[in-house]
Amino acid sequence: MDADAASFANAVLTWQRRYGRHDLPWQQQDAYRVWLSEVMLQQTQVNTVIPYYQNFLTRFPDLKELADASIDEVLQHWQGLGYYARARNLHKAAIIIRDQHQGCFPRDFAELEVLPGIGRSTAGAILSFAFGQRWPILDGNVKRVLARCFRVPGWYGQSATMKQLWYLAEAVTPGEYTAEFNQAMMDIGSMICVKSKPKCEACPLKDMCASYRHHSQAEYPQKKPQRVKPHKRTLMLLHRCDEQILLWRRPPSGIWGGLWSLPEVDEASAVELWQQSFLSIVQSPRALQQDVIRHQFSHYSLDISLAIIELEALPDGISDTENYAWVDTKDIGKHGLPTPVRKILSLLQE
Ligand code: SF4
Repeated sequence: MDADAASFANAVLTWQRRYGRHDLPWQQQDAYRVWLSEVMLQQTQVNTVIPYYQNFLTRFPDLKELADASIDEVLQHWQGLGYYARARNLHKAAIIIRDQHQGCFPRDFAELEVLPGIGRSTAGAILSFAFGQRWPILDGNVKRVLARCFRVPGWYGQSATMKQLWYLAEAVTPGEYTAEFNQAMMDIGSMICVKSKPKCEACPLKDMCASYRHHSQAEYPQKKPQRVKPHKRTLMLLHRCDEQILLWRRPPSGIWGGLWSLPEVDEASAVELWQQSFLSIVQSPRALQQDVIRHQFSHYSLDISLAIIELEALPDGISDTENYAWVDTKDIGKHGLPTPVRKILSLLQE
């Protein structure tokens, strides 16, 4: 480690001992808990994650409980956190660790990094936090600190930028106290070097920060040139018969993968054809509510309209019994549903 890297690590560690967070529920925990927290934190803020993390652990206290559970139940405990591929990968990786690693987390970086949903940074976090090994991490907070400190050009989607950020992360991560250092970098990113208006006067790195020196904090990390978000529409079908409604399990990949939702068609003229194909009936909607909810995905926004179809009796059959089910309204909570669908159903019950 050269002198500059040593000063960087010392400044970060000294700050951590005095101001860093020492009371997060996943600190000083085993690999399972570190892994779970890292995956939940990938797209979500600490304060949002904490209650989900605690509820998830109550139901799945260890890796075996998670691996033995059904994907439906895992998704149900993930609902509301979004980015459901994280939950599906968590479940897949738990099964692999149970079946191929005797239920113990691999301590080898190469074995860990190839597990579903565990990339280079999450593997580094597990190995440094749970096993005390020297591996750098590069989550969103750490990227921002390094990009500003060293005025790294380009945006995160560019491989040259990521290469440079990883190079810097490797260079500044110390061989001793790696876990404390990694925690401190995440804390500095989330508490001090925040996205807008970083609190540079309180930052332990200000003496060596190039952005601070050049008053260019707002220019880093550089942003990907914006494209206008496309706009999509869908029509959800709410078939209702007394207290039962028809739910559809979405395909395992794609948006809301594996979650239960309402069947969808592109437009009202397709409702009858859908009914004939899946329920062998034709029943016109009682009501058509346009644009009930607009949901924002990272790459597009979705306007959801709703067709409410009242049935006097349940149809004789469903052509795809594996992915469609009549569910009693009081049992809806047992199914993992995307947030907008839950909102639509609760609006209707009010
Ligand atoms: S000095 Fe400011 S810009 Fe530089 S790392 Fe610290 S908070 Fe971020």
